[in-house]
Amino acid sequence: MRTVKIADKEIAYELKRTKTRGIRLLYRAENDPPLIVHAGRFIPEWKIRDFLAQNEGWILGHMNRTVQGFFLLGQPYRTMILKGTKNSFTIRKDSVLFTMKDPEDEDVLEALVKHLWKTVLEEYTENHREEYERVTGHTGTEYQYRIMHTRYGSCSPKKNRIHLNTQLACYAPEIIDSIVYHEYAHFRVLNHSARFYKVLEGYDPAYRKNHAKMRQTAFVNPRTCVRTNLSTEAET
Ligand SMILES: [Zn+2]
Repeated sequence: MRTVKIADKEIAYELKRTKTRGIRLLYRAENDPPLIVHAGRFIPEWKIRDFLAQNEGWILGHMNRTVQGFFLLGQPYRTMILKGTKNSFTIRKDSVLFTMKDPEDEDVLEALVKHLWKTVLEEYTENHREEYERVTGHTGTEYQYRIMHTRYGSCSPKKNRIHLNTQLACYAPEIIDSIVYHEYAHFRVLNHSARFYKVLEGYDPAYRKNHAKMRQTAFVNPRTCVRTNLSTEAET
């Protein structure tokens, strides 16, 4: 794999030769490595490396938006994959163990990660339900969890239901809380007017700060987040 040194770090990239003349950079969190360079067939490698160095700011900006490795409730976890007789996961103090019939099966791994996220998020929000209800004065809300690709949450006020993106399980508790409060605030005000934010900041005074923090992190890919943080340690 090719690498380039940027800000004292060796950064891996994939080079794809194209029929066009120029050089183009792409950043795809789901790709391994995420940095992809499209370059015309006749462009020498030293020119490509120069181009990468010139675009240091762009590359670092994208990298800082991407969660590297595996996080639960904002904490980093080592991950391990073991071959076993069934597909399952176990959460330990600072590591997560995935047992898989076929450790190479990326579809199964993705399904396990999604199930793990849902389990962690559901436990967290149900444990905090009392606090949410006390703060908002709104009771009996049903929480539902699913993978969403462009949003963190949504709600159906008529059904007294809040939908949460299962990926929120990766984020720090105060960020999860601020998303939940955002949805609760919609029970009072449907749109995103000034009145809405007044209600929301009554529930969560740090909402703006939490929201800004959240936006610095991109959604992680359920397949690669395990592989990038894989521990080679033997099972003890
Ligand atoms: Zn909203």
